[in-house]
Amino acid sequence: MFNRIVKAKKESKGVVLSDGKRFNGKSRFTDSLAIKFKIHFAKAICDSKHDLKGLYKRSLAIFHQHYSTNKQPMHDWCDGRCCKYIQATTTGEEYNHNSRSIIPRVCLDLVRPVFDELCCVNNLIRGCEWRLAQRQ
Ligand SMILES: [Zn+2]
Repeated sequence: MFNRIVKAKKESKGVVLSDGKRFNGKSRFTDSLAIKFKIHFAKAICDSKHDLKGLYKRSLAIFHQHYSTNKQPMHDWCDGRCCKYIQATTTGEEYNHNSRSIIPRVCLDLVRPVFDELCCVNNLIRGCEWRLAQRQ
């Protein structure tokens, strides 16, 4: 995950996005967010060892959690134990997506192919098989 995001970052170096700004930098896509995605993805894999459907759901939730806005919340794949939006709406409170650091969607659109590729069911199966083979 991290290596793929770094690759996307390198490929976008010097490219001006549709909002007139570049991919990374302050209030943009940072290396710490790439590390955060990597950690969440690794945790999803560890927690869903025998649950491919759960792994698929949790993997997609990582991206959509960050892609969500007040106008377009996308928490269908989120775990209610971790997602503050679900927790707030369950208790009838309003959740403000702007209360957290917002990564512009134009930046997230550049890493979406990484998620699309790594989080498709066939690649998740292959990743799990590879991990199992490494342990033997
Ligand atoms: Zn969520």
